[in-house]
Amino acid sequence: MTRATAHRARKERRCSDCRRTIKPGEVYVRHVASPNDPDVGNEGWWRLSECADCARRCGRGELIETRAAA
Ligand SMILES: [Zn+2]
Repeated sequence: MTRATAHRARKERRCSDCRRTIKPGEVYVRHVASPNDPDVGNEGWWRLSECADCARRCGRGELIETRAAA
């Protein structure tokens, strides 16, 4: 199973979806799957970063707003 959590970036990252740079201080969504996830088909830990725009477009805006307000 994959897990999506919102974080505030401490260093620059690249959105794995639109490829734009996520700057320090921006809130982004981190997706994590443990090794051998049947949905992802990964062998090791799998992580990706998703910028706020893409998260909102994919219906995860709530995660962003909750984190941004904290
Ligand atoms: Zn993006």
